Amino acid sequence: MDNDILKVLYSQNEIKEACERLGKQIQKEYEGKTPVVIGVLKGAVFFMADIVRAADTYMQMDFIDVSSYHGGTKSSGEVELVTDITLDAAGRDVLIIEDIVDTGQTLKFLMDTFANRGANSIKVCTLLDKPAGRLVEANSDFIGFEVPNEFVVGYGLDYDEKYRNLPYIGVLKPKIYSHN
Ligand code: 5GP
Repeated sequence: MDNDILKVLYSQNEIKEACERLGKQIQKEYEGKTPVVIGVLKGAVFFMADIVRAADTYMQMDFIDVSSYHGGTKSSGEVELVTDITLDAAGRDVLIIEDIVDTGQTLKFLMDTFANRGANSIKVCTLLDKPAGRLVEANSDFIGFEVPNEFVVGYGLDYDEKYRNLPYIGVLKPKIYSHN
């Protein structure tokens, strides 16, 4: 897989340090509360696992699966709920854990969904923020890294369901997806 990567953006160690920093921020934010921490499948799984263990605070964990990409590198713009959470978000402090915010459409869909269900508060923690890609307003409260407008893979992020298991985050060589 390494041969398919043009450049490494964030090493395993840099990601670890970012998770520890974000975990401590989350711990402080939710002191005395028990938030529902919701990981967005599948991209946020490793990130979620690492930040929750860096936050020494009570929490409940759940997962939601939404889709908008359909295997390519450009968003279709339509966000669908694929698999819902099992906990009730009404009256709860919801913390959404995202891998990356690009156009903002997925995040807006999720925030609207939990607002409609009557969450007490909604905050967002994203590993990567790609502000140049934004089409709708959707802001995160906790951000790991701001990334340039390039297609990145690794540490949960995929191209065509591959590369999620790379331990670092990198930019894919254009020739890998140029045939699409
Ligand atoms: P948005 O709705 O903000 O455009 O995109 C959110 C979702 O699109 C992310 O959760 C992620 O699955 C996917 N995405 C956006 N940019 C990238 C990228 O650079 N690489 C990968 N692998 N996925 C991306």
